[in-house]
Amino acid sequence: MTEYFEVIDRDGAARIGTLRLADAITTPALVDDVLEETGSLWSGEQAVPDGDESTLSVLPHRAFPAGTPTEVQTAFEPNYPDVAFPSAAVVSPETAGDHGTDAYVLAGASGFTGHSAAFVEAIIATREAIPPDAGVYLPGIATPGNVATLAAAGADLFDTDRAVVRGTQGWYLTADGEYRLGNLDELPCACSACQQGIEAFDREDCVEHNVATLEAELRTVRNRIRQGRLRDYLEGQARHEQWLTATMRRLDDEYDYLETRTPLVRKAEITAASDDTLGRVEIQRFAERVTERYQCRFDAPLVLVPCSATKPYSESQSHDQFHDAINFRGHLASITSPIGVVPQELELTYPAQHYDTVVTGRWSETEIAFVADVLEAYLRDNDYPRVIAHVPEDYREITERVEERLGESFEYTVADHPTTEESLSTLSETLAGESKYRKRERQHNVVRAIADYQFGKGAGDALFDDLQVESRYPKLRVNDADGEQLAAMVPEYGVLSLTLAGARRWLEADVPVKRVEIDDFVPHGSVLAPGIVDADESIRVGDEVVFEGPSALAVGRANMSGPEMVQSTRGIASDVRHVTER
Ligand SMILES: [Zn+2]
Repeated sequence: MTEYFEVIDRDGAARIGTLRLADAITTPALVDDVLEETGSLWSGEQAVPDGDESTLSVLPHRAFPAGTPTEVQTAFEPNYPDVAFPSAAVVSPETAGDHGTDAYVLAGASGFTGHSAAFVEAIIATREAIPPDAGVYLPGIATPGNVATLAAAGADLFDTDRAVVRGTQGWYLTADGEYRLGNLDELPCACSACQQGIEAFDREDCVEHNVATLEAELRTVRNRIRQGRLRDYLEGQARHEQWLTATMRRLDDEYDYLETRTPLVRKAEITAASDDTLGRVEIQRFAERVTERYQCRFDAPLVLVPCSATKPYSESQSHDQFHDAINFRGHLASITSPIGVVPQELELTYPAQHYDTVVTGRWSETEIAFVADVLEAYLRDNDYPRVIAHVPEDYREITERVEERLGESFEYTVADHPTTEESLSTLSETLAGESKYRKRERQHNVVRAIADYQFGKGAGDALFDDLQVESRYPKLRVNDADGEQLAAMVPEYGVLSLTLAGARRWLEADVPVKRVEIDDFVPHGSVLAPGIVDADESIRVGDEVVFEGPSALAVGRANMSGPEMVQSTRGIASDVRHVTER
């Protein structure tokens, strides 16, 4: 049971937490000053420390050299006492488990510097084995350069050991790497130790600078996590050291680990500045859901158009012109890097209106390959009578690649630029004779497409077979045939929030429900982790969830993933929007 650590906020595997000592510490943070070491059991019997609430006591332990066989480690594993003060257990990836402590010290962490594969393997094995609401402490490794990456991988606690040692060795540390003191002509820093000429700057000053810079970098990391933008930072910052870039990419390859921990929706914008952005969970998840869950309900030709810098696309001048030319005779989908394919119904759905990309008019091969794969999968899953590609020249490499793979021909309608009068009238003429769909039909399809995306394939029809839509897009109110409200569309994220009637319908429908079983209480405002009996594994932060307990039925938005809800002993598991006693 975790008594003195609590996770407050999540950004992928990174978290903002509180180490609840007498003076609480917001993590990721340095813990040098509050750490109480008891020593190793190898050097003899060690008494369990007295402990108190002002320190984090490391319980007596036995550390092993890396590579020690698991059987050996397990055989020598100490019995962790159940203590009533903040405590940490020393573990290896092999011995990590729920030892009842608030934090876990990953032994040998200092050896991971420069070794991305070993680090990623170790942190994931450790994180997956311990309770989610416990802190992970990586001793002896943190520097201003690597601490953002270490936090992004899921570490919470650090110390100044390495920053101090490097300083005494004459290494000047910054967020962009390490400099030999003798090789610096100026001090590129505003900390108090650096407020002097380089001539007088000695190794003692260097230690002071290194520690101050590490602390400053941790402030940056914490702010980034709170804003949901640590990854944007990392894509630039981690580039200064090869092993950190490799760590970021290897973490991306551990999709399940990151996906479980990445919110389904959020306000933060994604800065798409490099090919690495395509590896992000948010991008991969959107592409996966569009190609596997989404189903086009329009009986109309597909019109592929370029995205616009303005979001949502429909508010851009170019899309306004496309809309006029199409005039309800075609189903519009935008082709874009880094998102892939965005059907018009999902233009508000995170992250389709939450990204900004670098526009050069050139596509990298990685982008072309990614968007072509998504478009191919999309067209294999959705049958259109015709595909009209209203795209500029630089999109041709994508569309032609897909035509070849599918053995189909698209109709091209752009001469020069998509918004020239000639191109627009060609688009309009190409659609001559196609029948128009109605605005009402379009709104119904928006609701159903979002339901597919959010709740699973077929959910749109299962939940909203008889819907009526009220008010103006994008603030749609979704009612059943009798006028009872089932859901509302949330324009900021392009998702649906359910009413109790909507939740009941979800429970009855033949689609998987993100269900949370709670104890015998009536939740108000929020549900805390200790009140949760069980939760669906597929729940992610930001998901709609239905709470069922002996005395209440409720619906709300998850603040934790399903596994985290079940394994945590602290923290707000979910907000509650509507509740009824039963
Ligand atoms: Zn400095």
